[in-house]
Amino acid sequence: MKKILVLHTGGTISMSENDHGAVQPNVVNPLYSTIESLSSIASVIVDDFVNIPSPHMTPPLMLQLAEQLKERAEKEQFDGVVVTHGTDTLEETAYFLDLQLDWQKPVVFTGAMRSSNEYGSDGPHNLITAVRTAASDEAKGKGVLVVFNDEIHTAKNVTKTHASNIATFKSPQYGPIGIITKRGVHFHHTPLEFDSLPVDKLTKNVALLKVYTGMDEQIIEAIAPHIDGLVIEAFGQGNIPPNLTASLEQLINKGVPVILVSRSVSGIVQDVYDYPGGGRALKKLGVIFTNGLSGQKARLKLLVALEMTSDQEKLQKLFLT
Ligand code: ASP
Repeated sequence: MKKILVLHTGGTISMSENDHGAVQPNVVNPLYSTIESLSSIASVIVDDFVNIPSPHMTPPLMLQLAEQLKERAEKEQFDGVVVTHGTDTLEETAYFLDLQLDWQKPVVFTGAMRSSNEYGSDGPHNLITAVRTAASDEAKGKGVLVVFNDEIHTAKNVTKTHASNIATFKSPQYGPIGIITKRGVHFHHTPLEFDSLPVDKLTKNVALLKVYTGMDEQIIEAIAPHIDGLVIEAFGQGNIPPNLTASLEQLINKGVPVILVSRSVSGIVQDVYDYPGGGRALKKLGVIFTNGLSGQKARLKLLVALEMTSDQEKLQKLFLT
């Protein structure tokens, strides 16, 4: 029987609804009651890492989680890991761990949209399917995975698409890489590329801004003195309001890298348009284009990449994958 480490971090999966319909954290995690059902799938070691709503998650805490997993992997024998997490920021912690853990062992994130005592609570089912996935040989070497609503997604591509529906996690453009049924865990795709940027500290400040029509350059100028890097979610294939160009140029000239992703959920950014604020002008300024990452994930990648280099050419190479 496989040995699976289950680490709880909090979120709705560990919460309950009170008599007034408010969903709140519990002192004792209700997921401990699922240990018996899990033990028919794998030999489970269950621990709480923290018990927080996921909007309280921070990159330093994500780093501590990665470090705890690395330390435990050195001392303890286990075949895979399941992390339970609030769904609001699950994709960020999962991707951060993907950058930190260059493991063959499966690491699977899951959570729930309905708390532990609500009708149709999805937590126990998601936890069981996550443990089944972590115990599957086929899950090895596929990077950090997210299992939710019987689908398997990569941490890199998955995103929360619905505020309350249980079918919230999707991988726009890419789709899930597998499904889980009563009979088994089935993978139908294998990820081709993995980003690995392990760090032992986080000392930089990286901001994320989404552009919008009529956006004022003062927003960029106001944050400029406080940041080491900036991610811009641009329009479409990578265009911005023209008045923002000068403030981005100033940042780049100061050595502050600017990474560009699209605010569209699918497609890629490229230097197609040749007009003020268009992709061609931005590329000429030295803006770094990257694809396959949402703004929030590009921000995490820049946060860790800046611990290794602030050389804009080296960053450009790191962001090509
Ligand atoms: N607000 C909750 C959290 O992220 C939502 C959830 O877990 O589904 O902690």
